[in-house]
Amino acid sequence: MIERTIFNEEHGLFRDSVKRFIEKEIAPDHAQWEKDGQVSREVWLAAGERGFLGCSVPEEYGGPGADFLYTTVLLEEMAGAGYTGPGFHLHSEIVIPYILQYGTEEQKKTWLPKMVTGECIGAIAMTEPGAGSDLQGIKTQAVRDGNELVVNGQKVFITNGQMADLVIVACKTDPTLGAKGISLVVVERGREGFERGRNLEKIGWHAQDTSELFFDHVRVPPENLLGAEGRGFIQLVEQLPQERLIVAIRCCAITESALDWTVEYTNERQAFGRTIADFQNTRFKLAEIKSDALMLRVFVDKCIELLMRGELSAEDAAVAKLRASEIMSNALDECLQLFGGYGYMWEYPIARAWADNRFARIAGGSSEIMKEIIGRSLTGKR
Ligand SMILES: Cc1cc2nc3c(=O)[nH]c(=O)nc-3n(C[C@H](O)[C@H](O)[C@H](O)COP(=O)(O)OP(=O)(O)OC[C@H]3O[C@@H](n4cnc5c(N)ncnc54)[C@H](O)[C@@H]3O)c2cc1C
Repeated sequence: MIERTIFNEEHGLFRDSVKRFIEKEIAPDHAQWEKDGQVSREVWLAAGERGFLGCSVPEEYGGPGADFLYTTVLLEEMAGAGYTGPGFHLHSEIVIPYILQYGTEEQKKTWLPKMVTGECIGAIAMTEPGAGSDLQGIKTQAVRDGNELVVNGQKVFITNGQMADLVIVACKTDPTLGAKGISLVVVERGREGFERGRNLEKIGWHAQDTSELFFDHVRVPPENLLGAEGRGFIQLVEQLPQERLIVAIRCCAITESALDWTVEYTNERQAFGRTIADFQNTRFKLAEIKSDALMLRVFVDKCIELLMRGELSAEDAAVAKLRASEIMSNALDECLQLFGGYGYMWEYPIARAWADNRFARIAGGSSEIMKEIIGRSLTGKR
């Protein structure tokens, strides 16, 4: 089978240390966090101490300044192990890049060092009850009043929502301008009028605090504007290829883990005097999943290389996200089937993976939106 060529020996050593961290700091507590609906603050600090948060943050802001392959290793190991509670990847690879890319020197110095240590947990709030795929329809406003911005509105489905100390909020700074009136505003924990709503009950991701957020006349200084006023929509669009590739990387790792668990299980479980793997149907299913996973892996590794060269297009990222989430969903469903009734039991990783990862086809741009992006690039029609 085709070997991966993107990593060097250092990345391998880093992978070993991430595996050890997951075994020691995450595995023992994850079941409790699922009951609590969120992880502990301590695990964030422990990840920060090991240099596992904000891998790409340059040394001058307290980070290790590592390349995207270290990020890839972290994403793969966290996703493949099936522990979905810690929202590290959203904090490190989605929130931090906005600050790195669009923040002023002052903003970077204020927020990044604490985000690297895990003292400051990040979230990004775009989705609202009335606007998800169609972000131009958001209603949250940030209006100037003297020398301040006043934020009013409501967000929903926000990852790290309960624990976040810093939230990048997509707001309309000029509601008359559509997409050109959107800006990104940072709201920190403790600002008067910033309240958390419910920690939402989900079909999976039980240890993840996915929440409602409310902003009622929240006053922030103009220094909390991230990038130029009115550039928010463009900033969101610019970051999407990386965000979508991150989903694809996670989906690859989950598919491969599911395949490993299923090969092991079907080789042991007996029915009609044979192992489940002795049935041709099982081997055919496993072969189909393996072929899909391998083709996907090669494509996603190529996308990682393109991203690192600054050449990953919106269309290729959409292809990666679309196919990765669909291949993973199909694989999880087929693997669960091969586990029989045990596949439906929460104590089995395959059951969790199946429920935990259904959202991959919805969040970060749904499969339908990915098809729109790819279809438009083919036809030129909007
Ligand atoms: C677990 C989880 C975590 C999340 N974390 C975050 C977060 O941290 N921050 C954040 O801002 N958001 C987050 N989201 C929200 C997520 O990004 C949105 O749910 C997603 O963008 C879809 O928006 P929506 O739910 O409003 O669905 P809608 O936009 O209402 O879509 C409903 C259906 O219509 C389809 N549809 C919409 N437009 C079109 C079209 N043009 N053509 C064809 N079909 C279309 C969609 O594909 C979907 O099937 C999270 C969601 C989940 C489930």
